[in-house]
Amino acid sequence: MTATKQWGTEPYWGLDFDLDPQWCLTPAQQDLQSQLIDLCQRVLRPNALKSDAELIYPRENFKALAELGLLGLLVPKAWGGLGENHTCAAMVVETIARYGCPSTAMCFTMHTGAVAAALFRAAENPELQSVLRRLDKDVFIGTLSYSDPETGSHFWYPTSSRAEALAEGWQVFKKASWTTSAGFADWYIVQTTSPDFDGNYSDLSCFLIYKDEVKAEPSKWDALGLRGNQSGTLEVNGVTVPLNRMVGPKGDGASSNDETVDPFFLLCSSACWNGISLGAMDIAKRHVTRKKHVDVGMRVADYPTIQDYFGEAIMDTNASRCFVFSMAKLMDELTGDCDWSIHQDLSAMPRAQYLHWYWQIKFIAAKNVAHVCDKMLHACGGSGFKKDMEIERYLRDGKAGWVMGPTNEVLRQFVGKYALLGGFEALDYWNQSLNERVLHNELKKMDADEKRALAAQLLAEAEAMNGKVVAIA
Ligand SMILES: Cc1cc2nc3c(=O)[nH]c(=O)nc-3n(C[C@H](O)[C@H](O)[C@H](O)COP(=O)(O)OP(=O)(O)OC[C@H]3O[C@@H](n4cnc5c(N)ncnc54)[C@H](O)[C@@H]3O)c2cc1C
Repeated sequence: MTATKQWGTEPYWGLDFDLDPQWCLTPAQQDLQSQLIDLCQRVLRPNALKSDAELIYPRENFKALAELGLLGLLVPKAWGGLGENHTCAAMVVETIARYGCPSTAMCFTMHTGAVAAALFRAAENPELQSVLRRLDKDVFIGTLSYSDPETGSHFWYPTSSRAEALAEGWQVFKKASWTTSAGFADWYIVQTTSPDFDGNYSDLSCFLIYKDEVKAEPSKWDALGLRGNQSGTLEVNGVTVPLNRMVGPKGDGASSNDETVDPFFLLCSSACWNGISLGAMDIAKRHVTRKKHVDVGMRVADYPTIQDYFGEAIMDTNASRCFVFSMAKLMDELTGDCDWSIHQDLSAMPRAQYLHWYWQIKFIAAKNVAHVCDKMLHACGGSGFKKDMEIERYLRDGKAGWVMGPTNEVLRQFVGKYALLGGFEALDYWNQSLNERVLHNELKKMDADEKRALAAQLLAEAEAMNGKVVAIA
């Protein structure tokens, strides 16, 4: 028999546990979920209102999460963490977004991505281990700084960043257009091209950078939703860091991205969008079951139209949740319940084989949240349009799902291209493979003089590249 959900001393006013896929969670994870719902009721949700209204970074909420040990959720017990798995991470983010604060859920998502990137290569790195041991004790918040001002949502392509090898360490230059928690986080995983970069953008490296080494501009952050998330610009301007601040070996950036950053970001952010969908349904349920129309003697919830809105929103959202939890369970299975010691073998990349599945969960959850929040606003009528009901905040927060990189436009094309044109190779992340069909089609349109002019230009370019004279036939 499913327990009744509590909200402080009262029964919860939203959807109850019978509509949650609780079978995905162990009894210990269900217990953690109850403690987290309680924390959301007491601390996170009241703070969410202020964060949204006054653009306040949710550090107070992180302090509360640290009391439950959640900053070190994925960290092995031997290093002071909870040693939890992917399923638990998805549950925690969904719960924070639903009952507490979506901005906090997104900052926590980025923290979790950074923790995963650190855990991936911590075995041989005492500096990374010391960060991981501090997470809850010092409320030591991490984040991911990837997106580049020149390449938009193609965050895997950092043209404005680089690193140089010095005798005493690495000199890091990073320019990021967006970084959740920028200026508020205590540590950052930043991605740059590798030292000795030779023009191949797939050669990437990651660095651990501390708060006092970055420049951020939080005063410029003002956005439609996730207003506490503070995803501003970030700069690391030629800071020299010791050798052990490179995360993993030189050139490990793409592996780090495929094995940790993408899987954890996509899993947790999908859980965040699902949590926002559920939060909007909860608020709307409270309203439509209480509001009466005296003329017809019915509550709003008694209209079949409103019942249809809820039926569809619940089914679509639970399909998305079950999809997310199914990916989390797969990752648990592949990694022995998130056992980080498997990465002592540097070539172990079990999560990366399933990358397009993570893209799929993000696409579905981000598409669904926009639709569900819209329908819940419709269900609440004009009352939902006003700020005090909080539906409009959930709607604004949920809008971030579609546009956050990898954007839903990019994801649907990646998955379609993967399926039709021959797997991951066809995606050409770093713009390296030639599309001969396009090339020949364009050449067909040129007359003889245009072809000669192009040939001369290409030969001159080839000459410059090779540093030798090429004879024109
Ligand atoms: C709330 C929030 C938090 C964020 N936090 C972080 C963070 O912590 N760390 C971080 O590194 N980044 C973060 N980002 C940045 C994010 O990942 C993207 O880099 C950013 O949203 C890109 O914005 P842009 O204006 O440059 O979009 P653009 O890339 O310019 O996109 C504009 C449009 O072009 C479309 N488009 C782009 N490429 C293609 C393509 N190949 N095919 C078809 N259409 C395409 C897009 O889908 C979109 O419709 C965050 C973003 C948001 C909104």
